[in-house]
Amino acid sequence: MVDAGEPRNAPAKHMQGFLSRDGMPPPEFLAVGRAEVESYGGVIRRGRVTGLRRTERSFEADLNDGGRLVARYVIVATGMRDVLPDIPGVAERWGRDLLHCPYCHGYEVRDLPLAVLGGTPEAVQHAQLIRQWSDDLLLFPHTDRLTEESRDQLLSRAIGIVDGHVARLVVADDRLSGLELEDGRIISRAAAFVRPTFVPTTDLLTGLGCDVDVNGWVISDSEGRTSDPGVRVVGNAADARAQVITAAGAGSAVAIAVNAALVDDDVRDAVRDFRRGLHPAKT
Ligand SMILES: Cc1cc2nc3c(=O)[nH]c(=O)nc-3n(C[C@H](O)[C@H](O)[C@H](O)COP(=O)(O)OP(=O)(O)OC[C@H]3O[C@@H](n4cnc5c(N)ncnc54)[C@H](O)[C@@H]3O)c2cc1C
Repeated sequence: MVDAGEPRNAPAKHMQGFLSRDGMPPPEFLAVGRAEVESYGGVIRRGRVTGLRRTERSFEADLNDGGRLVARYVIVATGMRDVLPDIPGVAERWGRDLLHCPYCHGYEVRDLPLAVLGGTPEAVQHAQLIRQWSDDLLLFPHTDRLTEESRDQLLSRAIGIVDGHVARLVVADDRLSGLELEDGRIISRAAAFVRPTFVPTTDLLTGLGCDVDVNGWVISDSEGRTSDPGVRVVGNAADARAQVITAAGAGSAVAIAVNAALVDDDVRDAVRDFRRGLHPAKT
């Protein structure tokens, strides 16, 4: 395994939603997992794969340290990027008190004065999800134009709407304290949510010519199989909704499927050699 070591949830102090590991710091979770893999002889190499090529019967991966690896199958688990609104304070507070996932971090900010920041797709839908965690929720559409239908949906569930462009997130004592609008108003809030635009990190796969859908996501089946039979994709690189537990579960399923494919190939090659008389039969 080659890993550049920049997981998506790195800004978060704690990880929720992984049964039996609730609240574990993400680096600790990775350290335990890596130690387990290595204790069984797995090799984890810190580095970045800069290119992937198909050769006649295998793949070659170029590494940023000049190394090269050869493999019969490739599993790509390179994750995705969260593209956030370009507003001062957003990058700094991301994963701390500017949050995305109601299932990962909603409970921790339950019943607090919350905001949902617009300017990215599906902000209204996101506000409806976050509403489940607090009776004091305001949507800041920012650059979005709300339809009458959306406004009614929000107001009917007591979600306030604060029109106007957001100028910055206001921070006091290293905590979010509010959102400032371009007209100078500061609306106090204890935490904010935003729905990022998700961009899969799949340049290695597209470089290999794997088919993508209209939104640029690599097409794969439930065992991570892409249009290239030797290449699988898993986790957030394949599915924006994957949480840590689902990414790990899918990783296990894909690894088992690849192992089965390797054995099938070994059987095919063994039969071919056997019929050529290269291997004596035991009975
Ligand atoms: C702020 C935040 C908080 C979150 N909190 C939670 C939570 O509490 N619970 C939860 O279940 N989910 C949480 N998530 C979602 C979680 O981060 C993802 O579900 C999870 O990271 C997906 O795992 P993955 O292995 O697909 O991708 P990642 O964990 O992002 O791992 C991808 C890895 O591939 C590496 N990589 C990329 N390109 C290359 C390359 N070319 N060569 C080598 N390595 C490469 C990266 O460096 C990275 O280490 C959170 C997300 C965010 C943004």
